[in-house]
Amino acid sequence: LKIREILAVGKPTLSFEVFPPKTEDAYDSVEKAAAKIAKLKPSFMSVTYGAGGGTSDYTVGIASAIKEEYGVTPLAHLTCVSSTREKVHHVLGELKERGIENVLALRGDIPQDGSTPKEYHYASELIREIKKAGDFCIGAACYPEGHVESANKSVDMDYLKQKVEAGCDFVTTQMFFDNSILYSYLYRIREKGIQVPVIAGIMPVTNAKQIRRITQMSGTCLPSRFMSIVDRFGDNPAAMKQAGIAYATDQIIDLIANGVNGIHVYSMNKPDVAMKIKENLSEIL
Ligand code: FAD
Repeated sequence: LKIREILAVGKPTLSFEVFPPKTEDAYDSVEKAAAKIAKLKPSFMSVTYGAGGGTSDYTVGIASAIKEEYGVTPLAHLTCVSSTREKVHHVLGELKERGIENVLALRGDIPQDGSTPKEYHYASELIREIKKAGDFCIGAACYPEGHVESANKSVDMDYLKQKVEAGCDFVTTQMFFDNSILYSYLYRIREKGIQVPVIAGIMPVTNAKQIRRITQMSGTCLPSRFMSIVDRFGDNPAAMKQAGIAYATDQIIDLIANGVNGIHVYSMNKPDVAMKIKENLSEIL
């Protein structure tokens, strides 16, 4: 099934994300976690792509297991900045062979080792290429608070428009912890003529260590209501987990109540977190 068809139904959707293992030893444990999440019957499941592309086989393998063994629609991520065209086409060939129809087309982070982009500079180039390579449903990333490298939000939205014009069918947001940021972003991108479905990316923060990484990587704003939770419960893992899941649930309910139907949870290979969120929404979805 193509994700654009799932979204076109117009009902709330709940999807989960997993990341592939970094080494073969961890493959089984990731597959088991993915299996437990798949058993929750999400609308689809995304599988991220390791930064350098060295673990691309694992992304394809986990995405394929999600589809074949659990009957859940997979979305395989693919990044291009550290890749050659040949590698990109190899991965697309593998996806086609396994009947995986959905690809999230990303640039990827610029490597920190000083190497310069090889053949691709922006996700829009990858989108154009995937479009030509076959009948894929293509997603892309978007940043309600602006991408960290962007001079300002407006320029970032212009480049988002280029991705949509290149052929992407939907976009998934970077995580955010203040829904009002998403609502004003939606207003602004619609004004710019970007009409594709926007899936809201929600990160349940279940341990205090995650916060430092999140703010360093993405510059995401942390509202005081959220920070109070971390200040109060950050040293108590069980309490932090419960409060983090409750905060994410609250965000999701507010989004759905305000007509944002696509909800994607950054579930980070944690079936218990995915399960709790699904349970918290049992009467809402
Ligand atoms: P782009 O859309 O190419 O944008 C990158 C920057 O370039 C932005 O600042 C943009 O404004 C600017 N820009 C775009 N086009 C132009 C142009 N023509 N001229 C000048 N500037 C331009 N990373 C992974 O490694 N693996 C994953 O699986 C992964 N999954 C992700 C999923 C989601 C939903 C999100 C939000 C991010 C994900 N990332 C992943 C992180 C992502 O790779 C980084 O945020 C990366 O820095 C940008 O990728 P992009 O596809 O948004 O890039």
